Order: sequence, then structure tokens, then C-alpha cells
Amino acid sequence: MKICSDVDGVILDYIQGFIDFTKRENIPYTHNPELYGVIRNFPDNFQVRDQFHAGDSLCRLNFITGSLETLNLLASVHELHLVTALEPEQSLKRAENLKTLNYDSLQCVGDQRKEQIIVEELQPDVMIEDRPELIEAFHLAGLKVIFPDWHPYTKGMERFATPFSCWEEVPDLLKQAVHPN
Ligand SMILES: [Mg+2]
Repeated sequence: MKICSDVDGVILDYIQGFIDFTKRENIPYTHNPELYGVIRNFPDNFQVRDQFHAGDSLCRLNFITGSLETLNLLASVHELHLVTALEPEQSLKRAENLKTLNYDSLQCVGDQRKEQIIVEELQPDVMIEDRPELIEAFHLAGLKVIFPDWHPYTKGMERFATPFSCWEEVPDLLKQAVHPN
């Protein structure tokens, strides 16, 4: 099986990493968990994002509970491809953060190209994604999508994809996804 996964919000805890960064840097910040994209509601969002990405924070995001163990298990029998909307310039930091994960490929492709690369080039059997717009887009493109349901912003995405509440559920979910019943 060819599995493709997003990284931020699915494998790595980008949100908590960003919140910790704003505390260290004394940047006033109120996190609204209902909104996808922790940096979107800043007036100078690109500047804050660049500052976050420029430091060490981006190499040291915590794994979401169970993601590393479960994905390494899956990667021992399946193909595992990671595609993230981080800019290509961040590839080394991302690889450093993910060095204990046994993936087949990692691409940092930027926001604009992510959907096309997954739909047209990778064409995975299963896509794991948390961004609402992309869950819908991948579903409409005919991909089987599963999503973590611990973010409030994915509420309602059951219309397009199958939710999971913790990583330990994922291996069984993938079996059902590819071989229903
Ligand atoms: Mg994500």
C-alpha cells in the first residue's frame, strides 16, 4: 500500500511548537483552536512565520502521541511518503525533526503545489491530512482520506473522510480503507 501523510498537525505538533515559540519570544498571542492555521490571524503573519521558521523551533517540534511508533510500524510493510506545505528551504530542518521516522520520501513543497503533487504525482492509496480544504479536495480527487479528529477545525469532515482519534487506531483503519468488510 502507498501511504501519504501530511506532517504538521498530523505527525508533528506544529501548533504547540508555535505557542511555545511565542511565549519564549514574548509575542502576544491568543490561540483560537477552532481555526486552522495558527499564524493566520496575525496582522504581520508572514513576518511572524519567518521568525518562527528561522530559529531552532522547527527542528524540535514534538511528535503527536503515537505517530512515530505507528508510522514506523506501517513503514516496515508499506510505502510511506510525507508531503508538507513547508517551503523547500525548510527541508533540512524538517528532515532533522523527522530523523527517527522511517519514511520513503519527504517533500517540502510549499502551500501552492501540495495538492497537485499528491493528486497527480504520488497518487497514494490512502492520504492522511488535517487541513479541511485539502481533506475535501483530496476526497473530490478520488483519494481515500483519513484525518485526525482531535483538532476542532476538522469538525464536519466526516462528510469527506474517515476520522481517527489516536494513532493506534490507524493500522486497522487502513486495512478497512483498502479492503472494506
Ligand atoms: Mg497539516
